[in-house]
Amino acid sequence: MDIQLHDKTFASFIAVHEIKNAVGIVANEINSFYKQKTPVILPVLDGAFVFAADLAKQLTIQAKFSFIKYKSYHNTQSTGTVSQLLGLDIDIKGQDVLLVEDIIDTGLTLHYLLAELKQHQPASIKIATLLAKPDALKVPLEIDFKGIEIPNRFVVGYGMDYNGLGRNLDGVYVLKEADTDTRAVR
Ligand code: 5GP
Repeated sequence: MDIQLHDKTFASFIAVHEIKNAVGIVANEINSFYKQKTPVILPVLDGAFVFAADLAKQLTIQAKFSFIKYKSYHNTQSTGTVSQLLGLDIDIKGQDVLLVEDIIDTGLTLHYLLAELKQHQPASIKIATLLAKPDALKVPLEIDFKGIEIPNRFVVGYGMDYNGLGRNLDGVYVLKEADTDTRAVR
């Protein structure tokens, strides 16, 4: 079923059960990787709040959580501008940090965040994301825990918005455009 948000129409793209499955796989990988550790998990707000909550419930390891914010998106295209890192209220020096993102597009947000967070001298920094658009990457970025790879399309739902709307949709929806690939692959 199509969804209308503001002036745009979005088509169903990733079903709830597929998301659940991907979250479970990512959680298992994180559980194995951090077995003997207590990572500091930093979900990147606003978009990652739904993924982070579902992921958190499936983590069996001990973990601390703190929420950070950094915004690079104003419309359906990345502005590429940088703004400040907000909300880091935990000392990450010597800690194992896991950044949690909803989606990685150009990679610029994480590129910037990694540089910023490294200044706080954590023991390690890893990246987890539910969605990634490999064709959109503009900087080299190693994604340690990845849910689903998607084509270079604009999506909403499951925490992700279009100008403020759509975050509460339980599935992922894609902006309707002619002649584009709508397949999602892990
Ligand atoms: P990047 O810096 O990798 O280009 O973008 C990262 C951020 O841009 C994501 O955390 C997300 O907030 C936003 N973003 C990237 N792609 C999309 C998309 O397809 N839909 C939505 N709603 N936000 C996106």
